Amino acid sequence: MSRVKRVLIVGSGIGGATAAYALRKVGVDVHSIDIKPDTPTAGSGICLLHNAMRALDSLGLAEPCLDSGFHFNAFRQFNSAGELLQTNPAPPSCGIPRPELARILETAAAGAGAILEKGLTIEYLKDRGDCVEVRFSDGREGIYDLVVAADGAYSKLREQVFGVDCGPRFAGQSVWRFNAPRPDQVDAFCLYRSASGRTVGSFPTSKDSCYIFFLENSQEPLRIPEGEAHLLIRERLAEYTAPTIRESLELVTDAKQIIFRPLDITLVPAPWHLGRVVLLGDAAHAPTPHMTSGGGMAIEDAVVLAECVASTNSAREALEAYSDRRYDRVKTIYDASMQLCRYEQGDAIGNRERSSALLLQTYQYLGQPI
Ligand SMILES: Cc1cc2nc3c(=O)[nH]c(=O)nc-3n(C[C@H](O)[C@H](O)[C@H](O)COP(=O)(O)OP(=O)(O)OC[C@H]3O[C@@H](n4cnc5c(N)ncnc54)[C@H](O)[C@@H]3O)c2cc1C
Repeated sequence: MSRVKRVLIVGSGIGGATAAYALRKVGVDVHSIDIKPDTPTAGSGICLLHNAMRALDSLGLAEPCLDSGFHFNAFRQFNSAGELLQTNPAPPSCGIPRPELARILETAAAGAGAILEKGLTIEYLKDRGDCVEVRFSDGREGIYDLVVAADGAYSKLREQVFGVDCGPRFAGQSVWRFNAPRPDQVDAFCLYRSASGRTVGSFPTSKDSCYIFFLENSQEPLRIPEGEAHLLIRERLAEYTAPTIRESLELVTDAKQIIFRPLDITLVPAPWHLGRVVLLGDAAHAPTPHMTSGGGMAIEDAVVLAECVASTNSAREALEAYSDRRYDRVKTIYDASMQLCRYEQGDAIGNRERSSALLLQTYQYLGQPI
């Protein structure tokens, strides 16, 4: 396989948009497409841990994130009344609204010369060995040296190329999320632990805003009746008297303010390429969110893929090196996230110390070079 000069990236989420910028920076022609008609303008927040910020910094993108987001470096635990139980140092992280992160990544990619198109997907793909032929949903055709499947956990492209066996499965929890004005107390990664074993989490996403989440156990994925999510979350969090939680919940007056979804996970075995199609981000590995690391792993994937492409004249060597460098690290984070998820599904109160210890230990692991 010859050198990679022209790449199609399918999906311009966190992984795809970072890859578009990173590959442009090493001189590759990038065509990025996304099925959604526009860059998202609404959504929850995301915590970019130290490793994600380090990877963004290597591309010169950490600063704009810090400018828009909120820097913090502590992990605090409270009871359901909002009394502080414990503070641990945590690695320097940045909380940021997802739409803001998307804007930063896409602006950087477009500014570097990547062609970004929205409302577009692929209808047909044929790997010819020396190139990939593609037909788009608008009837146009294209030829690329490499196609990156960055179309998320439910990746259609992965299904088409790698088969259905790699698809996601339910992890036994669902997540309720909403944005709120930031109370002074939320100046770090905060977990509010209730006496019944529930945990509500929150972190700042800017100096004025924060993001609140609650994970709920269930055997099967929960189905929430339309229009009722705002009422149901109040019932579930009734035992929380912490002003931070109560006052935030009072502002949730419409079901549309709640972003609810079951947690579906997948880890595709290495290698993550078949011929000239390569998986990146959640398409390759969607962990549970307990380590707040799926987006960070996608960003690291993008940085490593660009480095591998730039360091060899052979597409095959580049793709082999990419999976080799990524798989074990991603699996460690995937396993730790799943273990934290299991702790909450078991004896949640008895597991709290184990859970905090694993979180802090995995933060340290994340600091290792990629
Ligand atoms: C509740 C929750 C909380 C989380 N919190 C954090 C956190 O705090 N920190 C963190 O690092 N990670 C977090 N994550 C994980 C993080 O959101 C994901 O790992 C990250 O979004 C993956 O990025 P991606 O680009 O691979 O996929 P996505 O963000 O899913 O992007 C995929 C893109 O592909 C597009 N697409 C889909 N299908 C097609 C198609 N057929 N054709 C073209 N385009 C298509 C979509 O429109 C989308 O834009 C969390 C996840 C969840 C569920």
